[in-house]
Amino acid sequence: MQTLLGTVLRPQSPTDCQILSGMTLRIGKDGRIAELSSAHTAAKDVVGGQDRWILPGFIDAHLHLPQWDRRGIDGLNLHDWHKRVIYPAEARFRDADFAEKLAEQFVSGMIANGTTTAVSFGSPFAAATDRAFAVFARRGFRAVHGMVLNDQQVPDEIRQDADKAIDEARQLAAHWHGAEGGRLSYAFSPRSPICCSEKLMRAAAALSQMLRCYLQTNVAESLAEETAIRDAFPESVDDLEIYAEMGMLTSRTLLGHGVFLTRQQRDQVARAGTTLVHCPTANLFMESGMMDYVAHRSAGIRVALGSSIAAGPDPFMPRVAIEAIQTAKALKVHAIPRRSYPVPTPAEAWWALTRGAAEALGMTNRIGNLDVGFEADCLVVKPEPWIAQLPPQQQASALLYTLGPDQIEHVFIAGKRVGPQ
Ligand SMILES: [Zn+2]
Repeated sequence: MQTLLGTVLRPQSPTDCQILSGMTLRIGKDGRIAELSSAHTAAKDVVGGQDRWILPGFIDAHLHLPQWDRRGIDGLNLHDWHKRVIYPAEARFRDADFAEKLAEQFVSGMIANGTTTAVSFGSPFAAATDRAFAVFARRGFRAVHGMVLNDQQVPDEIRQDADKAIDEARQLAAHWHGAEGGRLSYAFSPRSPICCSEKLMRAAAALSQMLRCYLQTNVAESLAEETAIRDAFPESVDDLEIYAEMGMLTSRTLLGHGVFLTRQQRDQVARAGTTLVHCPTANLFMESGMMDYVAHRSAGIRVALGSSIAAGPDPFMPRVAIEAIQTAKALKVHAIPRRSYPVPTPAEAWWALTRGAAEALGMTNRIGNLDVGFEADCLVVKPEPWIAQLPPQQQASALLYTLGPDQIEHVFIAGKRVGPQ
């Protein structure tokens, strides 16, 4: 039994972020929140205090584990960056011992940044992916993860044989999907329509349906890629049409980026119930473009946020959320004529970082919120003290823009303290 004290931040909806001061949050033996009340506690095992805040853990819905130690390498276009930085980085994962070491660093990094759930692409090697899952299990981390799939248009060192990769991915999914009391999930992870044969994409779609796993990939990320896709698939209009054709557009699918989706495509994604993962820091870092968050949300698409490491340099999810707001502001003020649409508020940012992302992942009523019955994925942080003196409606905003990873004192996943130290 563990008791936390502090001001509780509870994103209820995109428009309602509750802030409850002087709260006691009790975690039960089953790792779930057993009590949330303003009652005074005489419990012994207490963390937090008057000046501490308790937040739901952050959910990073798109990033790449093998690229953890390749963040912030600027100055290359998407194609050259893959060739010179990313593919060589992923090739290192042929060595499973190395893979395990980097997975440990990855988990430490995630926890230090308050991320309690990561949806990540793995390397193209089955043994390395298996080791990563074993690290997640041992460290108590919550993850949706999968071996990246690519059987063409990538260097020999990381190119898979389609049949072998399908078989390996199926075995990994059978072993890890739903493991650790549901804390671990498998995601079939085709890299892109350029790097995957039709056979590989169809198999990934079929297996993810059959085994009820996730399916994750990238969509409409850059103009150069869109052109390459048109050259490779002259009969198809775009990558979204290819995904639909391969059976990849489902409610268990997560599409990263989506910078260049048209209005019709956004409607198609919404109809399929597919989640779009907005990666605003990566989209700007790689000079891909600015995704229109407001247009996606108003099309009815479920949107989560992703650091897209290492295309995005920053693992701290509140900064990704800030960039989502800033990108929406830039799109608004630079439109001709200037648009009048409502940019996402800090309340919506908190929601997208936590409860909204949980909904997008089909984990509604399990994580993302601090309420009785939810699995206790939460952070105890020590923000700057003046924030508590602001009018309540300003507190969520000030906290979003000023919180830093060094203010995180405790990280709990499924009720177990996992860090930061
Ligand atoms: Zn990506």
